Amino acid sequence: MNIHEYQGKEILRKYGVSVPNGRVAFTADEAVEAAKELGTAVTVVKAQIHAGGRGKAGGVKIAKSLDDVRAYAEELLGKTLVTHQTGPEGKEVKRLLIEEGCDIQKEYYVGFVLDRDSSRVVLMASEEGGTEIEEVAEKTPEKIFKEYIDPVVGLTPFQARRIAFNINIPKELVNQSVKFMLGLYQVFVEKDCSIAEINPLVTTGDGRVMALDAKLNFDSNALYRHKDIVEYRDLDEEDPKEIEASKYDLSYISLNGNIGCMVNGAGLAMATLDIIKHYGGDPANFLDVGGGATAEKVTEAFKIILSDENVKGIFVNIFGGIMKCDVIATGVVEAAKQVSLQVPLVVRLEGTNVEQGKKILNESGLNIIAAESMADGAQKIVAQVQ
Ligand code: ADP
Ligand code: MG
Repeated sequence: MNIHEYQGKEILRKYGVSVPNGRVAFTADEAVEAAKELGTAVTVVKAQIHAGGRGKAGGVKIAKSLDDVRAYAEELLGKTLVTHQTGPEGKEVKRLLIEEGCDIQKEYYVGFVLDRDSSRVVLMASEEGGTEIEEVAEKTPEKIFKEYIDPVVGLTPFQARRIAFNINIPKELVNQSVKFMLGLYQVFVEKDCSIAEINPLVTTGDGRVMALDAKLNFDSNALYRHKDIVEYRDLDEEDPKEIEASKYDLSYISLNGNIGCMVNGAGLAMATLDIIKHYGGDPANFLDVGGGATAEKVTEAFKIILSDENVKGIFVNIFGGIMKCDVIATGVVEAAKQVSLQVPLVVRLEGTNVEQGKKILNESGLNIIAAESMADGAQKIVAQVQ
């Protein structure tokens, strides 16, 4: 789960990780009010969306007066911001962070992520802050330093200090940055983060070390023990189809293609995406209806797929084990009735109760293209949408 920058900074503040003073604002009036309370000569107006790259896209404005703050707030609120992380459709700005302007001396990168190869949390840092870390990794990988953290010992002050020296933090600020990294690590561990990325971490003219940006990402499997984090959830930032799917306990992920997929089992769902790609198609989603889905759940799953305007055809690929083919067939027929099916539908059924399932589909009067195998089904749906 993702949260907004200002929410991330609230968490950091509680852990003694230093961030600029700031307030969230939902309207231009609130933005001006917040700037008055801050009372700084320079105020930064920052669009809050769940995506980075806002600076380059015009989502971070430096205001020198309250009039500036109002003008920028009015400009940004309601605007659709397109950054390299939002995709071409962009994201609408509904909240702003009104923040104290900092006298930046230099920008650095500091981040904690889980490294799956070593099964450890890794601290990554670079003196090339402010820019995309992916770009730094590609062009100047030698400028990225890493410390692998022993889960029993945790991040040691020694490791943090080594990072601080490697990225050339001025020596009088090394202790502050060590404290910063240790605090950020504590947030990462205690809040079950999957990413805690500060880009940029800055040193300022008045000798401070601060997080100017904060990207915290949380492991959804651990959210049950973090009610405070769940409160930060912003449904406006999530795909409505994914929200709907989570209500029915369906594993659904939107993708960019045009072939809707309904599959049982995550492994088969992955294999289905692969085989569609193999035959030159492009899947619109990953959907695992699970092992014990009811006809009602299948109906909802089908409706979610159909609510995606990009879907030009549907491939139902079921290997009935615990999941019975007749249940799937009933759900498909029910959904197709409820939302008049306009796109081609290819169905491949195999396994438990396959004959009953096929019978239900055949007698439904729906225009269904039957497939003999997974490969046959994939080829048929790709041909249909082209
Ligand atoms: P994004 O990563 O989405 O572009 P950031 O929060 O990193 O957004 O802001 C982009 C840039 O704007 C920063 O690299 C920094 O140079 C500048 N900036 C952000 N917040 C402040 C601030 N409070 N004071 C001064 N400059 C800031
Ligand atoms: Mg940033």
